Amino acid sequence: MQKNSNIYDLSIEDLIEFCKTLGEPDYRAAQIWKGLYQQLWFSLEDFTTLPKGLKQKLGEYFSGFKTIDFEKPSFTKLSPVRIQKSTDGETVKTLFALTEGKQVEAVLMRYYNRRTLCISTQAGCAMGCVFCATGQMGFQRQLSSGEIVEQVLYYARQLAKENKQVTNIVVMGMGEPFHNYDATMAAIERLNDPQGFNLGARRFTISTVGLVPGIRRFTQDHTQINLAISLHAADDILRSQLLPINRKFPLDELFSACLEYVQLTHRRLSFEWALIQGVNDTPEQASLLIERLKLFRVKGSILCHVNVIPLNPTKNYEGHASTHQSALAFQKILEQAGIPCTIRIRRGIEIQAGCGQLAGEFVK
Ligand code: SAH
Ligand code: SF4
Repeated sequence: MQKNSNIYDLSIEDLIEFCKTLGEPDYRAAQIWKGLYQQLWFSLEDFTTLPKGLKQKLGEYFSGFKTIDFEKPSFTKLSPVRIQKSTDGETVKTLFALTEGKQVEAVLMRYYNRRTLCISTQAGCAMGCVFCATGQMGFQRQLSSGEIVEQVLYYARQLAKENKQVTNIVVMGMGEPFHNYDATMAAIERLNDPQGFNLGARRFTISTVGLVPGIRRFTQDHTQINLAISLHAADDILRSQLLPINRKFPLDELFSACLEYVQLTHRRLSFEWALIQGVNDTPEQASLLIERLKLFRVKGSILCHVNVIPLNPTKNYEGHASTHQSALAFQKILEQAGIPCTIRIRRGIEIQAGCGQLAGEFVK
């Protein structure tokens, strides 16, 4: 173990190993794990039942930020630098600084009885989707599993003050999760642990731009985690214009991986579609999409779902959001073909709660 490590990067096995090297029994690791993921402690001072020597070592190896909010020495490697609330208070967006100063964001959305977090897996993104604020920033670096986990723990601590818990997590913040596959899956596994944070796999949704090898690997992993594909166009010419990665993994290849996922897992797959006026909200695109999605009929039921959301405007893309009328018309065409389609409302638009928008704005 190196000094200045992130304690949230460790699995329970790693923590047991760490305790062993210090001559501490396994139950100490379990105690620390519980403290971190059940009590949501992030300061060494909270671990009052640990022996002094062990506490000292933990401090030596895993020291984190000492911030204004966290006056005590802490384990945390994420420092909140800016917090924005929507006017109705239901959406909160936090911009975090990483240890070297790069920034990532995570959003809490409260609606109905849910408290859904949208979390980031990378600082920036290498995929360059033209309408995406994160894509416009370019790639900065991968987040470690601990940095992904900490975004969740941060909000979980806030919610705990109201006796509430995180109910769902969408991996739809900054970055492409399948371009950081191992860290993303390790983070989910850590949050999943019944002895720790204990959030069920079905409560998670990973959204991918369509990295085919990642989809294949995810299929083989047979998890209960939900999967969403950012489609946005149903022909290769348009999709390659909007999402450059389509040149590497064109629609035929993408859909063959998607189909394999559905056939092997029997799980319903979601498709994301940001409606851009006059670009991809046309009846032609809807028809092309229907052609593709017809293949998802497995034993009489369609194992897919389309989520349309009006485009969030970003600085470096001139496209506009579709009107509500066009969104309804698009939805109707799909539904008439038997394809379930939901129009998502834009939450927190006034705080630019769209992917990458806060960090992008802050960098300039
Ligand atoms: N990289 C992953 C997950 C993060 S992006 C992916 O692309 O799927 C999460 C979702 O936000 C994706 O569906 C993405 O296409 C969408 N998105 C990005 N910029 C947007 C914008 N300006 N308006 C609406 N949706 C956007
Ligand atoms: Fe990356 Fe997703 Fe944004 Fe595309 S939409 S640039 S994959 S974060």
